Amino acid sequence: LEKTLAIIKPDGLLGNYTERVKETILESGFSILKEKTIQLDEDSVATFYAEHSAKNFFSSLVRYMISGPVLVMVLEKENAISCWRTLMGPTDASKAKITHPYSIRAMCGTNYEKNCVHGSDSPRSAQREISFFFSADAVT
Ligand code: ATP
Ligand code: MG
Repeated sequence: LEKTLAIIKPDGLLGNYTERVKETILESGFSILKEKTIQLDEDSVATFYAEHSAKNFFSSLVRYMISGPVLVMVLEKENAISCWRTLMGPTDASKAKITHPYSIRAMCGTNYEKNCVHGSDSPRSAQREISFFFSADAVT
């Protein structure tokens, strides 16, 4: 079984999508191994999304991610990383509404930035992201 890191972003919590997203996760056969609700600060978002630090949307992304609490979860399932990315849908939630109408981002997101959920994009980033929010042994 594989693990991945999922986040329900501030727009998801503020928009009351938490239960709906968690139901979808469980109905899709994932186990939620760990979860916690936290308020991120600028430094932690900048570290978490360091790969995007040179992008033009970075400062806006940081403001969005600190605009309210987030729910961070470790999900487990066979092929958890790609399954969760498929369930989330494309990054741009406004496009997802047309191309992937039953994806989480289509149903709960708004646009390219406010897209409700995050998922690790590779085994390597899953490892990094799980140990970023939980203890290093949560990875194994
Ligand atoms: P995530 O890493 O959050 O799971 P992703 O892998 O689909 O999303 P990334 O390219 O890693 O997409 O971008 C990280 C986040 O930055 C996106 O989820 C979105 O909130 C924001 N973002 C990405 N591209 C844009 C953009 N062009 N304009 C505004 N915000 C963006
Ligand atoms: Mg990403």
